[in-house]
Order: sequence, then C-alpha cells, then structure tokens
Amino acid sequence: MLLIHLAEGQDVDYARTCLNKLTSKAFHGRGYVKKGDKKAAAFIAEEFRKDNLSSFGEDYFQYYSFPINTFPGKITLEIDDGKLIPGEDFVISCSNKSTDGEFNLVYLPDDIDNDSLFADYYSVNNFRPNDILVAKANLRGLYGKAFEGIAGVMLLSDKSPWWHVSNGAFINNTIWIKAKSSKFIDKPAKARIKFKNEFFADYQTQNIVGFVKGKKYPDKYFVFTAHYDHLGMMGNKAYFPGANDNGSGTSMILDLARHYSLAENRPDYSIVFITFSGEESGLHGSRYFAENPIFDLKNIELLINLDMVGSGSEGITVVNSSIYKDLLEKMRGINDDYSFLKQIKERGESCNSDHCPFYQKGVKAVFIYTMGDELKEYHTINDKADDFPFTAYDGLFKLLTRLVKNN
Ligand SMILES: [Zn+2]
Repeated sequence: MLLIHLAEGQDVDYARTCLNKLTSKAFHGRGYVKKGDKKAAAFIAEEFRKDNLSSFGEDYFQYYSFPINTFPGKITLEIDDGKLIPGEDFVISCSNKSTDGEFNLVYLPDDIDNDSLFADYYSVNNFRPNDILVAKANLRGLYGKAFEGIAGVMLLSDKSPWWHVSNGAFINNTIWIKAKSSKFIDKPAKARIKFKNEFFADYQTQNIVGFVKGKKYPDKYFVFTAHYDHLGMMGNKAYFPGANDNGSGTSMILDLARHYSLAENRPDYSIVFITFSGEESGLHGSRYFAENPIFDLKNIELLINLDMVGSGSEGITVVNSSIYKDLLEKMRGINDDYSFLKQIKERGESCNSDHCPFYQKGVKAVFIYTMGDELKEYHTINDKADDFPFTAYDGLFKLLTRLVKNN
C-alpha cells in the first residue's frame, strides 16, 4: 500500500485531513470574525514548515490589509411565527450597518422581479421610513445599494440563501436581507431586526508563500495558488465552512507542497506555493501580491490557480486556456495518454479568481476548477467536508505533476 502511495505521488488522505482542519469550527469559516483567517494561516504555515519549504523572506507570511465590514455579534430576525435561523433561513448583506427596530414588511407584486422593474416601482410609489420592501427577485445589480426613504429590502427565494462578502468594503443605510420564501408564505406584517456591525478600515491579514528550489532551473518558477479564505461568520453562530470553496484547492496545494518537498520528487524547476486571503472580499490577496511581488514575476513559467476542485465527475475547466492553446494541447495530450480526467474544457478570460491579477500583469496564468453535480452547495453554510467527494483529486494531481515534469 505504502509503495503504491509513494509511486502515485498524491495523498488524498492527507488532503482530507487538511480539509477537515480548514473547515472545522475552530477556524470560524476562515474570515475576519474571531481571526479565522489568522488561525487558518498559522495552520498552513505550520504544514509548510513541516515540509521544510523555503521562504522568500524571514517567514512564509506576506502581510497586507483591506477594508471589511463584519458581524461578530448576535443577529436576530423575528417575524410573527418566531425567530429565523441566521445562515439557514436568511442572510444579511455585508454592507449593512447596525440595526435595532421593528419594521413594516411591504410585499411587492410577484411580477416585480428584476432590477429595473424594482427601481421603477420604488420611484413611483410612496413608502414610509420604517418600510422594508419584500420582493421575489434576485436584484443582483442593486443588491447592497442605498435607497432613500425606506428602511430596507428583503429578497425572497425558494433556495437556501447564499452569502457573499464582496460588498463589505463600504456600508450604507439600507438594510438588505435574503430569506427563504417558505418562511413568508403567510405574509407577516412586521419584522424585528437586531444586529451590530463592526467595520475595519484596515484589517491586517496575510498571504502565505513557500517554495521548493529546482535542481536544474532554480530561477524559473511553476507557481501553484489557491485562496484559503472563505466567508467567515455571519453573526456569532452561522459559520461558512467553505469546503469546496476553497478548502479543496488549499488542501491540494498543501499536498503538492508535501509531494515536491520529498527528496525523490525534487523538481527541475522551482515550485512556488501561494495561498491567498481576501479572495471572497474582492481578490485582495492576489492583487496585493501581484502589485507587491516578493520575487520577480518574470521568473514565472506558469501559474496555476486552483479554486473549487472538490468535484470532477465531468472533468475540469481551464480558464484562459483558449489564450494559451499550446498549454491546452499539452494538457490534453497528457490526458489522452493517461485518461486522468473525463475532459479538459476550454474557457477564455474571466476575472473570477486569483489568477486574474497575475494575468493582468502579463504572467502566463490559468485557473482550474472541477465540474460535476456531486457538489451543489455554493456559499451556503452547507459547503461542508462531510463525505467530500474529491472525485477527480487523483487525476488532477497527476495531471499537474505530469505537466511540470514534461515542461
Ligand atoms: Zn467563493
């Protein structure tokens, strides 16, 4: 068994141990409540240290800061039927400010279901300062924006509410809430809402960087990146474990670091491992790194970003692969020889993860995510590590190490 393990390179048991740790309650969803980011960072750095990775500076950390709004205390939303459960029945917008009061719920007609219809309805009707407008709509373009003369907006959906923190750099006076429509069937007239925000203009956080020096080309780098942050906590109870997003990519990075640190796997090129914070709040970690690199970005042969790699029954998608046709052909060639993955799907540019700030600086950078229906939870409290599939873990790991080897 052990021999097979070593020969195959990857160690999914180790990756699962990392995933369980990263998604545990002790790390508070790896956000900015209860220093979740720092606890996760300390764990990653400790693993790097055990692997004897080299560091570019004194240690593995690159510190930086960004503005972020948080909700460390209790969050209450109460209607006639009782209290709703934060995270499960509703989420509040990350740009909300402290609130404590009773509000009138004003139900909009069901056909007011998009941004412009909502904006029209709002502008032609009169509302009271204590009204919260309730709509069955997504309102993606308006979400988190300020509306004068009303207290807030509540959006109802049949699905579990999903949270995001990319609008946490500012706060406004309008309360925004997303809630499960099943809780509002009887159209309760009032809602009692109470929570406190805590805004950090300069929350200090950190990226973690280590490397294994190459034998033949020590000054040429293959860089593997993944964001280790997630949404953290919304209030003092609801925490978002972020197993697929992006405990999965972080765990694979740690396994790749373990692999390349073994004497028998010592690579020809230097292999750099970077885990970023701040991705969920707007690619802050990778942007900071690309603006303030701790090594010359020109040394990068290829950067591969891993974000949400827990599924794979339908193969992988490679963002930017339609720009780097040579790379796509190389990957497909390897896959044809070894059948590691069901398919390698081509995709163009998309500034949707941490490869983007590097790509914008002229670095050859791609972003890989897995595809498949086996993982459906996205940005909910149920993106958990239990029975985590890691369907294409083995195949993707081998494709990556083979790609490095064949370069
Ligand atoms: Zn995410």
